[in-house]
Amino acid sequence: MKPRPSFPAKLPPSGGRSAATSNPQPLQANPRPAAGQVAHKAPPSAAPGRLAAVPAMPVSSGLGLDSSAVRARMVAKLAEQGVQDPWVLQAMGQVERHRFVESALVGQAYEDTSLPIGLGQTISKPNVVARMIELLRQDAPGKLGRVLEIGTGCGYQAAVLSCVATEVYSIERLRGLHEKAKKNLLPFRLPNVHLMLGDGMLGFPKGAPYAGIISAAGGEDVPSVWLEQLAVGARLVAPTVTATGQQALVVIRKTATGFDRQVLEAVHFVPLKSGIA
Ligand code: SAH
Repeated sequence: MKPRPSFPAKLPPSGGRSAATSNPQPLQANPRPAAGQVAHKAPPSAAPGRLAAVPAMPVSSGLGLDSSAVRARMVAKLAEQGVQDPWVLQAMGQVERHRFVESALVGQAYEDTSLPIGLGQTISKPNVVARMIELLRQDAPGKLGRVLEIGTGCGYQAAVLSCVATEVYSIERLRGLHEKAKKNLLPFRLPNVHLMLGDGMLGFPKGAPYAGIISAAGGEDVPSVWLEQLAVGARLVAPTVTATGQQALVVIRKTATGFDRQVLEAVHFVPLKSGIA
């Protein structure tokens, strides 16, 4: 793992909610990003329908010249399915999911389905990605501060997180996927995404405390270091085996005096494993 030269000197003093949260501003002034780049626009204050106005980005993927219309349909469906956070809807409309899947699967990139990304791993359904990030962002008036993602996989969710958080630290234990994510994310030029090869079960203490921790792999339990690395008021969202023996989404909020734990719907995530491979 090669730390960024500026890390951790760049870290703000607290991992809590971003200071600029109450008045969201575009991160970048450039309104027309290069192909593959995510436009960090503040989300519209009104209806998600306005997301269809995302600037057209030329693509050469078999989806035609403009994939934004397909994404807008996906976003409309996410909204119908109950996703409400405008930051999340905006981000889902911005990130070109088809750039993260194998060329043979590009036609399915905007369907509500999980897809293989190699080495036996999968990219989650758009609906699950949106739902988990919405849970992570609950009560956040604007951008989240620093976020830790366990399980970079192909890098798609890290790109979505980069639109809704000031910094994204994403850790992957499989070298092949870590390299793939680096390659996938390169054209997006996202200076706030930091990819690390390592065992996410240990968290990433250098970036702590985090304004949110999200896991894309499910374990028997939530590692206690994740809870230690959460800022007070922040949430952890992770698939975890619950009392019934089934995997469910678990949300844990750190309070000044302890933790609030909620067990939500059943999910099917790849297993959380220790060590690097
Ligand atoms: N967020 C990803 C989903 C990847 S699937 C995406 O958008 O593509 C979950 C990933 O978690 C797999 O790549 C798997 O290798 C990884 N993983 C499992 N256990 C891990 C651990 N202890 N540390 C880091 N990554 C882990």
